[in-house]
Amino acid sequence: MTDAEREELRRHGILLTSLEELYNWGRSNSIWPLQFGLACCAIEMIAAATARFDIARFGAEIFRPSPRQADLMIVSGTVTKKMAPLVVRLWNQMPEPKYCIAMGACAISGGPFKQGYNVLKGIDRYIPVDIYIPGCPPRPEALLHGLTQLQAKIRGEHLAGPDQAQHLRPANPGELPIPDYGAHDLEPPHNPARFSPPSLPRKA
Ligand code: SF4
Repeated sequence: MTDAEREELRRHGILLTSLEELYNWGRSNSIWPLQFGLACCAIEMIAAATARFDIARFGAEIFRPSPRQADLMIVSGTVTKKMAPLVVRLWNQMPEPKYCIAMGACAISGGPFKQGYNVLKGIDRYIPVDIYIPGCPPRPEALLHGLTQLQAKIRGEHLAGPDQAQHLRPANPGELPIPDYGAHDLEPPHNPARFSPPSLPRKA
């Protein structure tokens, strides 16, 4: 049945759905973010939960203090190399299905501290990021927009078939390796299964 036909039925008060749509609709409207922030962007994340912006309108107001009760990690702020292993450890402790939003330039790429010896140049070097929200800092409305984008992504996930959601595939790695503090940098400096640094061609 085409979307147009279903819309026509809806206009006549007949609602058709599938188990997959119902399941994804419920999940997308009940997202529980992990309550932690790393720097200034976290203030905007906190503001999104206040009455003025009211993230509760999108079903994501239950910020949890434990990763074991959360399914969304909002990495909001500067990820220092000292903090990065702990972020990966928290990610590993979250149950599947789980999602990650990188909020702000720091979480995406290191932001204004990109050249700093102690700052990770993007959390996607270690964990999978579903939604990137640029800005320094992004406003709460940007976080709400990112959240609606994530909801659309969840609603589009398939429970079976060749396009099956990542968390349902047998090859899903489950826990990701946690980097260690080396003599000069994190070891490894990125998860090779997740990130490949761009190679710049050298001039002869
Ligand atoms: S992106 Fe800007 S506002 Fe956000 S944590 Fe970094 S420096 Fe602070």
